[in-house]
Amino acid sequence: MDLFEYQARDLFAKHDVPVLAGEVIDTPEAARAATERLGGKSVVKAQVKVGGRGKAGGVKLAANADEAVARATDILGMDIKGHTVHKVMIAETAPEILEEYYVSFLLDRANRTFLSIASVEGGMEIEEVAATRPEAVAKIAIDAIDGVDEAKAREIVEAAKFPAEVADKVVNVLVTLWDTFIKSDALLVEVNPLAKVASGDVIALDGKVSLDDNAEFRHDWDELHDKAAANPLEAAAKEKNLNYVKLDGEVGIIGNGAGLVMSTLDVVAYAGENHGNVKPANFLDIGGGASAQVMANGLEIILGDPDVKSVFVNVFGGITACDEVANGIVQALKLLEDRGEEVTKPLVVRLDGNNAELGRQILTDANHPLVQRVDTMDGAADKAAELAHAAK
Ligand code: GDP
Ligand code: MN
Repeated sequence: MDLFEYQARDLFAKHDVPVLAGEVIDTPEAARAATERLGGKSVVKAQVKVGGRGKAGGVKLAANADEAVARATDILGMDIKGHTVHKVMIAETAPEILEEYYVSFLLDRANRTFLSIASVEGGMEIEEVAATRPEAVAKIAIDAIDGVDEAKAREIVEAAKFPAEVADKVVNVLVTLWDTFIKSDALLVEVNPLAKVASGDVIALDGKVSLDDNAEFRHDWDELHDKAAANPLEAAAKEKNLNYVKLDGEVGIIGNGAGLVMSTLDVVAYAGENHGNVKPANFLDIGGGASAQVMANGLEIILGDPDVKSVFVNVFGGITACDEVANGIVQALKLLEDRGEEVTKPLVVRLDGNNAELGRQILTDANHPLVQRVDTMDGAADKAAELAHAAK
């Protein structure tokens, strides 16, 4: 999960990374009181999860409260690289900025380690600097067990050739930023610019943070989620603990096991080429050992997707035998009907593996008018694509 700048700022503040005061607002008029609280002037900053806001006109100085309202009026609703600005941060203005640096920590998957990237040539041209003069950007590997203590931070400061007069302050930023990175289970923490200001202080003026979703269970990240941006079907699936990703096709997919579901997406896309180019509408892995309840929850999400015209349930019985899955499907349909949710879309079910015969017999006996059995994966994909095309 990527955070907005104001959320990154709050996280930095919590871990003692030096930042300036700031608050987030969503109406122009609110910029007035916020600016007054900051002593009468402010920086108005677009809150969108994309870089280059400064260059796009999304970061403006306001010399007084009226100007802050005017700049907030300009920036709210603005489109920055396809992201509409719904919120702005009203931030304390930095004392005169003398230098702009860049520092970050990230997970380096390729080298199976953490990495620090640092440069004394930060600011809005950092991508250009990295591309044309890579020697101006220091990259230091960080051992996951040792982490970043003061000595390691000094090593980074020296490698990036930070000026002596800011060395201690940058070391402090690096140690506190590492603390933020580890304690928050982040995949990336980036500060650009890390500004040296007239007072000699070094302050994080902009922050980018990406958190590891796999660690969410041990944090309280509820309010960090951008509910407005979430796909409603994905949000509903998440609430039911389903592994669901919305795609833009017409054939709803349910399978057990991520690998099987991935290959089901391929097979359906391929079959769709013969049926009006219909495509998979989603990824949904209900996992091994899926109960009727889980099957019902999955079906409910998929049948609730207005783009879905047919559903392909592709199950390979393993630990959970096909007869249990077949019972699950029958009970799930009944459960939905009992909940008053009329099922109108055709389901193609392919069962194979452990106890396949028994499972198929259960479906045959149930004789549900919307359920068709097709016993091969390719055949079932073709049937589901054909039905989706016919219903389009
Ligand atoms: P980005 O363009 O999306 O990375 O947004 P930043 O928050 O990094 O802002 C872009 C630029 O605006 C920075 O590189 C700074 O030069 C400038 N800036 C940001 N905050 C302040 C501030 O408080 N005072 C001043 N004078 N400039 C700022
Ligand atoms: Mn920036």
